[in-house]
Amino acid sequence: MTNLHRLSIRELSEGLQQGKFSSRELTQHYLKRIEKIDAQVKSYVTVTPELALSQADAADAAIKAGNATALAGIPLAHKDIFCTQGVRTSAGSKMLDNFISPYDATVVTKAKAAGLVTLGKVNMDEFAMGSTSESSYYGATKNPWNLDYVPGGSSGGSAAAVAADLAPFATGTDTGGSIRQPASFCGLTGLKPTYGRVSRFGMIAYASSLDQGGPMARSAEDCAYLMNVMAGHDAKDSTSVEKEVDDYVANLNATSVNGLRIGIPNQYISDVCLDVGVRNCFMQALTKLQEMGAEVEYFDLEMTEAYIPTYYLIAPAEASSNLSRFDGVRYGYRCENPTDILDLYKRSRSEGFGPEVQRRILIGTYALSAGYYDAYYVKAQKVRRLIQQDFLKAFEKFDLIASPSAPSAAYRIGEELDPVSMYLGDIYTVAVNLAGLPAINAPIGFEERNLPVGLQLIGNYWSESQLLSVVHQYQQVTDWHTKRAAIAEENA
Ligand code: GLN
Repeated sequence: MTNLHRLSIRELSEGLQQGKFSSRELTQHYLKRIEKIDAQVKSYVTVTPELALSQADAADAAIKAGNATALAGIPLAHKDIFCTQGVRTSAGSKMLDNFISPYDATVVTKAKAAGLVTLGKVNMDEFAMGSTSESSYYGATKNPWNLDYVPGGSSGGSAAAVAADLAPFATGTDTGGSIRQPASFCGLTGLKPTYGRVSRFGMIAYASSLDQGGPMARSAEDCAYLMNVMAGHDAKDSTSVEKEVDDYVANLNATSVNGLRIGIPNQYISDVCLDVGVRNCFMQALTKLQEMGAEVEYFDLEMTEAYIPTYYLIAPAEASSNLSRFDGVRYGYRCENPTDILDLYKRSRSEGFGPEVQRRILIGTYALSAGYYDAYYVKAQKVRRLIQQDFLKAFEKFDLIASPSAPSAAYRIGEELDPVSMYLGDIYTVAVNLAGLPAINAPIGFEERNLPVGLQLIGNYWSESQLLSVVHQYQQVTDWHTKRAAIAEENA
């Protein structure tokens, strides 16, 4: 079979269970594609063929024995932020280029228990700070739709790997948009769950009160399968919530779009940064949802102006604290021939971290320092609460809030946006993390350069099933999620 990479997760599961193809064949198929095509896309930082084939053989044996789990034998790529035992876990940084994790992140443990096959680790912005994946120590990943463009970030490797059919689905993480924005730039579906739904244990921390793992795939259905694996309480993560997990696949048709109340924030749509091509696709998607019976209404989200300043205080503040553990002593990069302990710290951190990470450590340390703490950090926390309340008020009236996922489609590689312009691109995504809400990206068309555009739907707490269900139904009557970049059509 030459077209195994065209099958959905459900089709892969059925094919494996019915013995139409083995996990070894499927895994080899993907490994071959990676070998042939990834030289152009550069989505993988580390490919793990031996691990993959041994997991594939174990899955094949379980399937033969009749005791396999539903997803046994299906390949998966992990963002290189999830610790994987015995495999390098770099977080896209020179600091961790030599770090072989001694343990698995809970998400990785769960994926293994589900019988999924690890193809490897995919690229990302250094320590998940960025929107293009260009800040990675391993170089820029390319957007499969046009190799001159970025795949978005920080989960750019996850998005590019799936969009080029170099993995059927992938894990990602989202601190301020890092699942939704790359999914948007690469024409994929990606879900950022409610804070606390997916364990953060073994997920290298950027900003702990905002970080959340989630699935990235072609369709809502494919995401639902991976979400069933990833979600759940974990005693090893005290912020993961003890709450029953939905069966996201079983719930794919549980929400009716008919009668659904969808709010559009006026502030988002009047945003001067909003690109015309993106706006057009967004308006068409709204029309489609209306045809499906949704009621669309515009309303005010007063706190919109505060999103970027609030996020870009809180996230760097937490990052500066989290990243203090990388000091050249316990693990990670250590400079050559340090003269004393201060020299060791200084040079290890100056040489091991890239410029964007250093910038954020400086901003965060400043915001947390005595004398500025109340004026910046505490104030940002207060504003954060107001942003959350703004959303909760909106959910008294609406089931979902809709917006584009990003104000533009993908940027050109090397466009060298200044940091502030780059930060402004996060306008539609960061508030969701500040409030801890779930949100999803769905592909809704292409702008004038033929680059994908994404719709963001934000739900109330624990509405993952509803978000996946609404997008699933949208995907039953549209075909944007089935479109493939030319490079994905290439055979290995
Ligand atoms: N682009 C945002 C940032 O740079 C979000 C990144 C993320 O979600 N990890 O912080």
